[in-house]
Amino acid sequence: MIIDISDILMKVGSSKDFEGNLVMKDTTYQGDEIHFHKPFYVKGNVVNVGEVVALDAHIEGTATLQCGMCTEPYDYLVDFDIQVNLKPSHDEEDPDIYVYTDALIDLHDIVTREFLLNLPTRRRCTEECKGLCPYCGTNLNKEECQCLVDDHEPIDSRFAVLKDFFVNRDREV
Ligand SMILES: [Zn+2]
Ligand SMILES: [Zn+2]
Repeated sequence: MIIDISDILMKVGSSKDFEGNLVMKDTTYQGDEIHFHKPFYVKGNVVNVGEVVALDAHIEGTATLQCGMCTEPYDYLVDFDIQVNLKPSHDEEDPDIYVYTDALIDLHDIVTREFLLNLPTRRRCTEECKGLCPYCGTNLNKEECQCLVDDHEPIDSRFAVLKDFFVNRDREV
């Protein structure tokens, strides 16, 4: 999705609206795969504010993320706003400034970067995800393995230490 801003570059204060579908490319982020099965819907406007061109947009869609616990893919509802500034060339002093070339704004790279910055750091297929068994790798959402047969809580070493602490403390009392 390319926005031609040649008309608004002529005059400070002029603006234009845009809307449409933005085809996203599958990518990898922090080691997780991210897939886009449908384009994002993007609606916004660009304003020539003098030194920069200001772009506001609302973005909606769906992305398929990878669960950080069980590594299974899951659908994530995309719904966020962006507000960015653009210049005709890179600004050494401001790395957040985007660049347009030949009076054209390519929304793909802008939306991809802003989308990744907006992603939750803790990505889970569900809040209740049980993750993988740390011993045999079984997806504990789908089946139980025999590793934790004595203790059906997934083992977390930090909690195991705490549990020992409380058990021992009770004995001492
Ligand atoms: Zn999961
Ligand atoms: Zn297991």
